[in-house]
Amino acid sequence: MKICNLHDDIGTDIYEHRYDDPQRLDNYHYPKMKAGEIKMTALVCCFTGQQTYKEMQAQVLYLEQQIEQSLYFSYDNSKDIQCFIALEGLCGIQSDVTRKIQWLYQHHVRLAALCWNDDNALACGAKAGNKPLTDLGKECIIAMNDINMAIDVSHCCEWNFYDIARISNKPIVATHSNVKGLFNHYRHLSDPCLEVLYSQNGLIGAIPVRWFVTRDETKQTLDEFINIIDYLKNKVGIRHIALGFDFMDYIDDAPCMVEGLESIANAQNVVKKLYDRGYSENEVKAICFDNAYHYILPYLKY
Ligand SMILES: [Zn+2]
Repeated sequence: MKICNLHDDIGTDIYEHRYDDPQRLDNYHYPKMKAGEIKMTALVCCFTGQQTYKEMQAQVLYLEQQIEQSLYFSYDNSKDIQCFIALEGLCGIQSDVTRKIQWLYQHHVRLAALCWNDDNALACGAKAGNKPLTDLGKECIIAMNDINMAIDVSHCCEWNFYDIARISNKPIVATHSNVKGLFNHYRHLSDPCLEVLYSQNGLIGAIPVRWFVTRDETKQTLDEFINIIDYLKNKVGIRHIALGFDFMDYIDDAPCMVEGLESIANAQNVVKKLYDRGYSENEVKAICFDNAYHYILPYLKY
């Protein structure tokens, strides 16, 4: 079954390997995605708080060039995998917010989170405490709405979440987050946040990274991950659930994902497990592809 993946730091990965593995997108990432039946993916550049705007631009330009040269990835549906550029963190933007968002959009960025775990000029990551969104952050949300760039709330703190949800005139997405109702982790969404996401027709991409599923290392399994999807189904309904894998096997040798999901090549194991757990074909399709596809499609005009 085809899958849409809302989060994987592949933009940063291929940039870091630009000298030792310049064909990495097509030669390393594509075969694994093909095996996992990925048909749409975010290619994410992750900016953790230290990067300047110039460094952000260099990474985006490199990714853009790699996509344009790719045999398999395209922004439209003309090659095997449809992709879009997404940014995790905008720490390099400290002035001229609107102009810089316009530049990023011109270079095919279609989704962005204002911060990673850092506290920057726009927003504050959930790991860094709780603060209101800054004035520059508000300007950023308005600029993103105006130019039609989707807004990711996966890493921001809860106060920022409510500010962004209130200011944005378009539905927001948490591309890779789980739920505080099952595991009270700073990165996860509380029930009131889920309520807001639901009421604004937003989307949540559940994340099967071990340490975001449960603290109990003996229970970091696909079954436990599906419990999160069950929880979301009860709270917000099937139409608001997607997948944001955030694989790290290509960054680190240590196992990062729940058992049975070693790399994106095994992504169909999620499909199998959803069927095992009684989800209907339409529900599995909605979670694995349709919901994310329909969410992101209005942003993908080129
Ligand atoms: Zn992340």
